[in-house]
Amino acid sequence: MLTCRIHAKEDLRIESIPDPSIGPGQVLVRLGAGGICGSDMHYYFEGRNGSFVIREPLVPGHEASGVVAKTGPGVSRVKVGDKIAVSPSHACGQCDYCRDGREHLCRNMRFLGSASLYPHVQGMFCEYFVMGERQCYPVAGDISLGELAFAEPLAVALHAVNRGPPLLGKSVLVTGAGTIGCLTVIAARLGGAKHVAVSDVLDRPLEQAMRVGADRTIRADRDADALSAPQFDVAYEVSGSFAALKGCVAAVKRGGTVLQVGTLPHEPLPFVVNDIMAKELDLKGAFRWGIEFDWAVEYLSSRRVDVRPLISGQYPLEEAVKAFHLAKDKSQSTKVQLIAA
Ligand SMILES: [Zn+2]
Ligand SMILES: [Zn+2]
Repeated sequence: MLTCRIHAKEDLRIESIPDPSIGPGQVLVRLGAGGICGSDMHYYFEGRNGSFVIREPLVPGHEASGVVAKTGPGVSRVKVGDKIAVSPSHACGQCDYCRDGREHLCRNMRFLGSASLYPHVQGMFCEYFVMGERQCYPVAGDISLGELAFAEPLAVALHAVNRGPPLLGKSVLVTGAGTIGCLTVIAARLGGAKHVAVSDVLDRPLEQAMRVGADRTIRADRDADALSAPQFDVAYEVSGSFAALKGCVAAVKRGGTVLQVGTLPHEPLPFVVNDIMAKELDLKGAFRWGIEFDWAVEYLSSRRVDVRPLISGQYPLEEAVKAFHLAKDKSQSTKVQLIAA
């Protein structure tokens, strides 16, 4: 079978390896669609994602759907032919965080397609991969495999909103209008936000945000004044830009909340903490997701959330390099996906 492996910075190879075999409780999955995410691009274009450095060939990919090709002894949750969303989160289930219901903070997390551990935990950009049945979510109905691959990023956005205060009647800012930014717009509206503004430094992502329900867009690079006055109850910093985080702190009202969702650069950053004190802000982090993955699968399969406008292209695994370049060009794409040929 074909697999896509990053050996080092800008060294991605399509390689043929033997089909994997499965054991008890395991499921062999044929890739349906796999979304290329910011962290996959960091691995490809930089050879690292923040502090996680590639030390052996890494199969990226943690946002995927698939079709069950084979099941091991004892598997009851799915059967051959099922269309599934795949959760890339493999928590230990035994540590204090897991037992406390916060599996995404697990001390022994094995997150797919990540170089955080060595040997690396391989991801899903390959024709077939093996999954524990607990990570497979069967879905009925006519939802496409491309849409179903949004379960992971939608879960990120739902978790961000779930980490913040209730949104009914509130005014919200989202900085960054890429996939997670657009999904955060959707999640904030599901949460009842009265008004959702989005900022970005490119027009195309802002147009996408309007298509999925934003009320107002701000070109942060051209209209700095737009974010200088306090006007929002809650801000979600999704872009991973320090300037955007400062904008969030300035643009939320006294007593407001800022959620950091995007990954900021690894270097320490100077920060005016007095603004947080004097405005009595809540500054919180939102990392991955927990039960929100289950919700995301339901929102997608009922089309209560329609992500179809966000799919910019689907490419066979063999064209992964081309797809990674398109995914990086935010003036041309939102979500680019890889599919098994
Ligand atoms: Zn992702
Ligand atoms: Zn754990």
